[in-house]
Amino acid sequence: MNIIDIINKKKNKKELTAFELEYVINGHIKGIIPEYQISSILMAIWFNGLSERETNDLTMIMAESGKILDLNKIPGIKVDKHSTGGVGDKTTLALLPLIGSAGVPFPKISGRGLGHTGGTIDKLESISGFQTNLKISKFIENVRKINASIINASNNIVPADKKIYSLRDVTGTIDSIPLIASSIMSKKIAGGADAIVLNVTVGKGAFLKKIDDAILLGEIMSNIGKKNNKDTFVIISSMNQPLGYSVGNSLEVEEAINLLKNKGPEDLKEICLFIGSHMLIAGGIVSSCPEGIEILKNKIENGQALEKLKQIVKMQMGDIKQIDDTCLLSKTKYQRKVYSEKKGYIKSIDAYKIGKASMILGAGREKKDDKIDLAVGIVLNKKEGDYISLKQNFATLYYNDERKSLVAHNIVKNAFSVSDEKPVKKPLILATIDKKGFKIFY
Ligand code: URA
Repeated sequence: MNIIDIINKKKNKKELTAFELEYVINGHIKGIIPEYQISSILMAIWFNGLSERETNDLTMIMAESGKILDLNKIPGIKVDKHSTGGVGDKTTLALLPLIGSAGVPFPKISGRGLGHTGGTIDKLESISGFQTNLKISKFIENVRKINASIINASNNIVPADKKIYSLRDVTGTIDSIPLIASSIMSKKIAGGADAIVLNVTVGKGAFLKKIDDAILLGEIMSNIGKKNNKDTFVIISSMNQPLGYSVGNSLEVEEAINLLKNKGPEDLKEICLFIGSHMLIAGGIVSSCPEGIEILKNKIENGQALEKLKQIVKMQMGDIKQIDDTCLLSKTKYQRKVYSEKKGYIKSIDAYKIGKASMILGAGREKKDDKIDLAVGIVLNKKEGDYISLKQNFATLYYNDERKSLVAHNIVKNAFSVSDEKPVKKPLILATIDKKGFKIFY
């Protein structure tokens, strides 16, 4: 087999065989095929796509590039969750204890942030001492004992995705539907859960900008899930403005903790309850979404979800005092307020720009080995539809580096657009695909 023939085949819109895909992926992992040739094939896939059969084959080859977890020691239906990413997306931070407290085992393997989107592992590391590099046996034991645990996607689990994802990030090939589908589903198959709830985000702060693309991605992933005997639910939600008010690692942890203390923002609560209720359906605890929402609301109101978070943090060697008192989370030296130059209603807040500004402050990585600053970020005071007066403070930057804060300040200022008319409220949840593939639009 010859890699140049394979590149040419995909360039000429031909289907690759499973052997050819395996040759490419395994050749890359073993270091036989260099990054420039993999980049070339990724770009050919970006332009010409993959058939359903190729996407399935690629998913399985990637899943089998490392360990596939056996979760049989954990009783019950294990439910996993994944989001295609966004700005201010701290849903996993809140859902891990929420779902665990509702009695559904939730083993979560997460990654670090790249580009303008954050990663759950980075966020959790803003809790002092919190360990995400647990041994697989300890991870399984934790889920068995307290229903929830989270680990960093190590080199043993889907190593092919780790290598290829970071290459996609620097070659402009992230936003390819078959590549996203195989990246996510390979990790879900290797994660070993029985059922999966997928949140596909769409809009300015997401990788996909059009609802039709989000539906297509959802359908492809739902079919891969079905083929692997995993009940798969898809929730398509809007990611035009950031989720919640806070963007940045420790700031997002604080906001997720506040949600568990019943003081969270409405949009974050809405999406967490919606995704969470589907996780309870997948876990066989309830048969309808309103039933699931009711249970989860109670878990917040009676403090059980917050208690579950403390259990998780304790089991993973984190400092639980920071959960009770979020002022103990790491803080920046400086703050810079952003003031409006116009009065009126906020028509839009560009999530991509806010994510980018947060990354510039140091909350995210431009390259995969960049060091991040866990304390920096942005807190919005206003969301779409709110009214702002002239010279009103509508966002605050938390920073440690003056020069970076000046660049970020400009971006945040330009991320807001204001109009005289109150805009019509846009829905957060756009569509769902149930485990049978049935679609509902909201
Ligand atoms: N999230 C993933 O895990 N993979 C992608 O390709 C995109 C988002």
